[in-house]
Amino acid sequence: MSSNETWFERAEVVIPGGVDSPVRSFRSVGGTPYTVASGEGAEVVDVEGNRYLDYVQSYGASLLGHAHPTIVSVLRDAATKGTTFGAPTPGEVLLAEAMTTRVRGLEQVRLVSSGTEAVMSAVRLARGFTGRDKVVKFDGCYHGHSDALLVAGGSGVAQMGLPGSAGVTAGAVADTIVAPYNEVPTLDDSVAAVLVEPVAANMNLVAPLPGFLEGLRAECDRVGALLIFDEVITGFRLAQGGAEEYFGVTPDLWCFGKVIGGGLPVGAFGGSKRVLASLSPLGPVYQAGTLSGNPLATAAGVAVLEHVTPDDLAILSGRVTNFASELQEAIRGEGLFASTPSVGALMGLYLADEEFSAPTNFTQAKVLCENGLYRKFFHEMLDRGVALAPGAYEILFVSLAHTRADLERTVAIAADAARAVRS
Ligand SMILES: *Cc1c(COP(=O)(O)O)cnc(C)c1O
Repeated sequence: MSSNETWFERAEVVIPGGVDSPVRSFRSVGGTPYTVASGEGAEVVDVEGNRYLDYVQSYGASLLGHAHPTIVSVLRDAATKGTTFGAPTPGEVLLAEAMTTRVRGLEQVRLVSSGTEAVMSAVRLARGFTGRDKVVKFDGCYHGHSDALLVAGGSGVAQMGLPGSAGVTAGAVADTIVAPYNEVPTLDDSVAAVLVEPVAANMNLVAPLPGFLEGLRAECDRVGALLIFDEVITGFRLAQGGAEEYFGVTPDLWCFGKVIGGGLPVGAFGGSKRVLASLSPLGPVYQAGTLSGNPLATAAGVAVLEHVTPDDLAILSGRVTNFASELQEAIRGEGLFASTPSVGALMGLYLADEEFSAPTNFTQAKVLCENGLYRKFFHEMLDRGVALAPGAYEILFVSLAHTRADLERTVAIAADAARAVRS
């Protein structure tokens, strides 16, 4: 028997909580997760054959939509040539070139296998380069699950109601300073780096207020700290040059993931040659990975970056802007209060019983995410064939495969779902 229930029961026997990443769990929305059998374009199909219009899109890893023919073809080709060697390969060079030619100021990258690794390594590099210990992060920003950075993380950490994680020692977070998003902290010369999501996309969506990113740049320059943009979500999605291009603020170090793997496990961190020269084998900061720059992953990554043009991203951004306002209007038309903040191709969704304005920090975002409305709305949407992320802290990922008709259908379904939530 192939049903969502039986697959998940089997999963729970051999995998803790039945999931390999807590955001996939239905804990915060209730019910049994659908188990995906396949995906194509904007849709996923579960093991029972139910089709969903998918706004999870692997949390942003899938910009072209699922099983894009170009990606499938380069992967087939790459697989026949061998999938890992432990020696340099052309794919690594091609992906690094594709990235550095698209992002202004990014001179070199080191490839890793996840966003977590990218951020963890960038922070180590910043500490090694500056000879300083402290790292500033912002409340509600998620930077992967490494010990020092889980504190006050958004996404699944917030979804599970955790302030951080058990198993992380006080020592591991002693040099992590948490500041409220959208307020420029006053730094001193103990700070190695300020780490920020240039658009906060793990407390649902919080846009940077005008002056915030510029203020961080100036404050880092004042004390000689490095500014790190975690562009794991914004990279190659907000614009071809990511947040740097979109906001015109240049960090010292970048972290990437998600989009750059074309659906395979890839991350990268990079910056100027001057800073990257501190990395092993050139310098004293050690960093490594058996599968880093994996041929399958780099082939998919290069294919995505080459396939997606600035025009594609401009069109996607325009579509998302319209979709966001229509979705908000449709939900509000049914007497439920909604806010759908959007920045380029990124969009969020907050629901409430009364009038409110879009949050500017985690304290405000959390109140909205915890009001219990999202879980109802989520299930009403899922029952009607639209898959949102099973957690109020995640954003909606619209891929290049979502057509205008898909988005219009979603707006109509959202009106029905909002009506059902109200009744
Ligand atoms: C997803 C994410 C990460 C972690 O990436 P993984 O590949 O899940 O390790 C880091 N930073 C941000 C902003 C993310 O959204």
